[in-house]
Amino acid sequence: MGIEKLPLRDAAARRSYQQARLSSLGVDSFWVVRDVDVRYLTGFTGEDSTLLVAADRVVLVTDSRFEEQAQAEAGVEEVVCRRGAMVAAVARLCRRPGLCRIGFGSAALTHADWKGLGDALPGAQLVPFARCPVGAMRARKGREEVEAIRRALAISQSAFERLGRRLRPGMTERHLAGLLEWEMRQGGADEAAFKTICAAGERASLPHAAPTDRKAEANRPLLFDWGARAGGYNSDLTRLRATGTMPREVVELAQVVLEAQEAAFARLGPGVPCREVDHAARTVIVRAGYGRFFGHGLGHGVGLEVHEAPRLAAGQDDPLLPGMVLTIEPGIYLPGRAGVRIEDMVVITPDGYELLSSLERRPCGG
Ligand code: ZN
Ligand code: ZN
Repeated sequence: MGIEKLPLRDAAARRSYQQARLSSLGVDSFWVVRDVDVRYLTGFTGEDSTLLVAADRVVLVTDSRFEEQAQAEAGVEEVVCRRGAMVAAVARLCRRPGLCRIGFGSAALTHADWKGLGDALPGAQLVPFARCPVGAMRARKGREEVEAIRRALAISQSAFERLGRRLRPGMTERHLAGLLEWEMRQGGADEAAFKTICAAGERASLPHAAPTDRKAEANRPLLFDWGARAGGYNSDLTRLRATGTMPREVVELAQVVLEAQEAAFARLGPGVPCREVDHAARTVIVRAGYGRFFGHGLGHGVGLEVHEAPRLAAGQDDPLLPGMVLTIEPGIYLPGRAGVRIEDMVVITPDGYELLSSLERRPCGG
């Protein structure tokens, strides 16, 4: 079974796919460690979970806080409620049918758990996957997943519009970030997708500025980077707004950033290596003389996690595929002076891409 089978519509189909390809992965079982991967394969939304996928059985392990929820949500036949450590429960499950080649995503497992399982199963081989096959599956979204992302985006966009009407000089970054998160909750978000960034004036030169008591001033920019999580799926956008007029320097930097975004959009489509999209945008910024002020990658996948595969950055050879949902977020950061990042979301389609976000992209005052 190849990647052409993806994306798979529901958790049951994803589990069967994972079971069917165990032998081609060179293992007889796979230990799914991360909660988001367990959710993707089972529908279980609780926090404490792990999943063992073998050719003939799939077992969800959780603890007593989530037992009832797991029985109700997870479509798997077997739910084990652990009394002791997670590793001990997994080791017991592996021992019974004599599993001896157990795969796992190496970025997900702690050294302590890896060692714990190895010690408990001396005859077994633990097979690390630098690229977790479940994470790779998640990169391509099915129709329902794209709809869930659209919903999270709609919530975050209308919350931002409501915030825009309330923007006044004198409000602090902390206050504005809190209001935006509250507006998203009010609009149906389960929570903010990540800690909202609100950076006033020159603080926008810090790409991940945490909100402070710094006040918004008239005719000075505010950079917001925010997202909503709804039904498990996330959105992620960045915009600049000002009360009054946007400073000329910011407008000019934004012009370059918007051109970089357009260059990236023009390159999007199935089969295009991720690095080429980054390169297309970066070339615009380099030619404008700001190359060294754009330090991060151009974008990332968004889904059950805010940052997931694929990455749009130098050295990323993987091709774009239909169903991938990505951010396109070029930026220019002039330390101590100004920062501009504009971030939108797209989905790759069989013949190109669709822009999912619709808020005005130019930095505007008001
Ligand atoms: Zn962002
Ligand atoms: Zn982002």
